Amino acid sequence: MAYNKPIPDPEPYSTQPFWDGAKQGKFMLPRCTDCNRAHWYPRIICPFCHSRNIEWFEASGEGWVHTFAVQARAFGGWADEAPFVTAYIDLKEGDRIFTVLRGVDASKPDLAWVGKKVKVEFDQANDDVFVPFWRVVD
Ligand SMILES: [Zn+2]
Repeated sequence: MAYNKPIPDPEPYSTQPFWDGAKQGKFMLPRCTDCNRAHWYPRIICPFCHSRNIEWFEASGEGWVHTFAVQARAFGGWADEAPFVTAYIDLKEGDRIFTVLRGVDASKPDLAWVGKKVKVEFDQANDDVFVPFWRVVD
C-alpha cells in the first residue's frame, strides 16, 4: 500500500544527514562535540551548552517507552490506523523522541508498556523520505 500519511519535508541545511541516513536504514542523531551529548530535535546550537559544534552520528535506534497515549481518532492517512498508540521514546544515546508506537495492541493499553525496549524501523514514504517508527521488541 502506498504511504498515505503526511510526508516530512527534509530541510537541507539542518536535517539532511538525518534523511540520508534514514534512506539507508540508519537512525542518525546530532551530537555536540564540546559536551558530547546527543539531542533531538536537530538544532544548530547545542541545547545543553550552546556550542555550535554539532556532528551527526549513527545511533543504535534503540530505546525505551517513556510514556504513551492511545489515539482513538485521527485525520487523513492516519484515520485508517486509528486506534493507534503514540509514545515518547527515551533514546539509548540520550534525549527523547515522539513516535507512533508499533508492536502493541491499541485496543488493550497496558501501563506495562512503559519501560519496554523498542527498536527503530523505517517506512518508505517516497523516493527520498523514509519515516522512522519505533516497535516494542521485548
Ligand atoms: Zn554541548
